[in-house]
Amino acid sequence: MNKQLRKAIIAGNWKMNKNRAEAELFINELKPIAADKNCEVVVCVPFTSLATAVEAVGGTNIKVGAQNVHFEASGAFTGEISVAMLKDIGAEYVIIGHSERRQYFGETDETVNKRTKAALAGGLIPIVCVGEHLWERQANITEEVVSRQIKLAFAGIDAADAAKIVIAYEPVWAIGTGLTASNEQAQEACKLIRDRLSGLYGKPVADSITIQYGGSMNAGNAAELLAKEDVDGGLIGGASLKAADFGTIIDAANN
Ligand code: PEP
Repeated sequence: MNKQLRKAIIAGNWKMNKNRAEAELFINELKPIAADKNCEVVVCVPFTSLATAVEAVGGTNIKVGAQNVHFEASGAFTGEISVAMLKDIGAEYVIIGHSERRQYFGETDETVNKRTKAALAGGLIPIVCVGEHLWERQANITEEVVSRQIKLAFAGIDAADAAKIVIAYEPVWAIGTGLTASNEQAQEACKLIRDRLSGLYGKPVADSITIQYGGSMNAGNAAELLAKEDVDGGLIGGASLKAADFGTIIDAANN
């Protein structure tokens, strides 16, 4: 099965939660849970907790990511953070194009593409989020929406770089709502994404790319979602804030 060829990645998106002391406490609780696991474990923390998190994960298999990055290298962009700054602090991953950034902060497919290219050029692993709104699913245009997001996110990116990108399929209607896509809906969308990647880069590259599911994944539903052929991991919001719950999801990915 091709699933075995891919790295399972369980990433927590803390959003605007946890100060430095809370970040350190969480990581110390997570360390024994994450130790010796085959899957990659990532915590995407607020900018203000990055340094603390990087220090706390030292010598462990836990990786640290940011939740956004600017595409310019430097300059007059008040309030923004560059790829080089994230690398300097020790981050390895960055979430790009989360639906909350698209909804509240004017993120577009074009800026997702620019941020993704900048992250790749600077050596950060992008976790690129795509997913449809509820009205789009109800209007039966999920395929069209997600295909367009993928095409535009990957525009101008060659196969070697594309293979470094992680994709998170996150139906907007399932994020933070307690509504989870069914296992079949998650599989169908992740397979659609892989088919589109195959069209862009060929099957070997598409088969090597990790595609996560995100949207109210939790300790109770993770195992079934992660068992699906094209679901290679999870991007987890609410359930990533408690080490025990996040640990159960990591265990599910490890099995
Ligand atoms: C997310 O923020 O990416 C997410 C999936 O959130 P939640 O798990 O809370 O739905």
